[in-house]
Amino acid sequence: MDFISQRIQKLAVSATLAMSQKSAELKARGVDVINMSVGEPDFDTPLHIKEAAKRAIDENYSRYTPVAGYLSLRKAVCEKLLRENNIEFQPEQIVVGNGAKQELCNALLATINPGDEVIIPTPAWVSYVEMVKLAEGVSVEVPAGIDNNFKITPAQLEAAITPRTRMIMLNSPSNPTGSIYSYEELRGLAEVLAKHPQILILADEIYEHINFVDKVHSISEFPEVRDRVIIVNGVSKAYAMTGWRIGYLAAPLPIAKAVSKLQGQYTSGASSIAQKAAEAAYTGSQECIEDMRQAFERRRDLIVELARQIPGWEVNRPDGAFYLFPKVDSYIGKMKPDGTRIAEVADYVMYILEEANVACVDGAAFCAPGYMRLSYATSDDNIREAMRRIREASAKLY
Ligand code: PMP
Ligand code: GLU
Repeated sequence: MDFISQRIQKLAVSATLAMSQKSAELKARGVDVINMSVGEPDFDTPLHIKEAAKRAIDENYSRYTPVAGYLSLRKAVCEKLLRENNIEFQPEQIVVGNGAKQELCNALLATINPGDEVIIPTPAWVSYVEMVKLAEGVSVEVPAGIDNNFKITPAQLEAAITPRTRMIMLNSPSNPTGSIYSYEELRGLAEVLAKHPQILILADEIYEHINFVDKVHSISEFPEVRDRVIIVNGVSKAYAMTGWRIGYLAAPLPIAKAVSKLQGQYTSGASSIAQKAAEAAYTGSQECIEDMRQAFERRRDLIVELARQIPGWEVNRPDGAFYLFPKVDSYIGKMKPDGTRIAEVADYVMYILEEANVACVDGAAFCAPGYMRLSYATSDDNIREAMRRIREASAKLY
């Protein structure tokens, strides 16, 4: 008897988390692995945020929290959206949850009916397609390669829209490519979407602050689509708080209410202590963001320079996030020293893990076969050593 539902049987395991676990297991066995698989800042959470959490414990923030989050935190989120993004939201339009991941999934579950089409520009983060599956929607992938800096064009978007399209998931800065849509590029997409009022825009802006451009723009800046945008963001990346699990969604009121209803039956409000910490993140000094941003920019320059020295890799210069997404399909068909053949990038990634002890993720997990992802949210020394090892291991392939 198979007790597992079809819903879960159809679901893929998160490749980022799986690879990270594999690397942790190897490390526990004493192997000197450099983990470039999972994407999370390697910095500690800033002190003033940790102090706020300790205070919250002492002040007995220990009861159930409101389903949508503490009002004080939702107000702080509204102030952030006004201050940094120049968009006005009311606290009733904000739902705080267990990370941006939960709010992305909530947004889909609250708006997508079986068979509805969701446009996903690819490469896309591993969980998008799987979340659409959970909502019983149909993913419509719109691919963009390295030649286009991994960004889709308005014409591609227009061509992907059908009467069944209900949503587009936009992620800028992007995981896994680090690409950022410029104001003009977003305007092009907004102009297409303006003609199709049945389409919601799920804007995942979790990497907003990790950018190496003058300014990161949001599709919500365009009045013609503004009332159909659901913004998802959180504290994981900007404030090095991945383990605290606080993210939020800012949405048109009926959608925020629907998401609250779902959350109320499913998980309840997020952790009280973590919410107080997130509030301190949004209301306290923002200097920590800039310090970490500068470190990521320096590492971006370093990894791009070193990756371009690896024969057969095609490397672009990402504008944000902390990922490199080289095209490595020239290694397909080569032989390993043990005489077995590299049939796909997954084999190359596994070879690099075993031979070079560097953990990366196969691009296929991001709907982009032929590529691989490296997270450079690690020290400069680790980046240098990892690239040296990968170059040496790759040179043994023939
Ligand atoms: N969106 C993208 C594109 C991400 O890379 C991540 C982090 N894995 C998330 C959302 C989820 O972030 P959180 O830690 O807030 O759940
Ligand atoms: N953002 C990270 C990644 O893509 C987190 C892991 C995950 O949740 O997928 O590696």
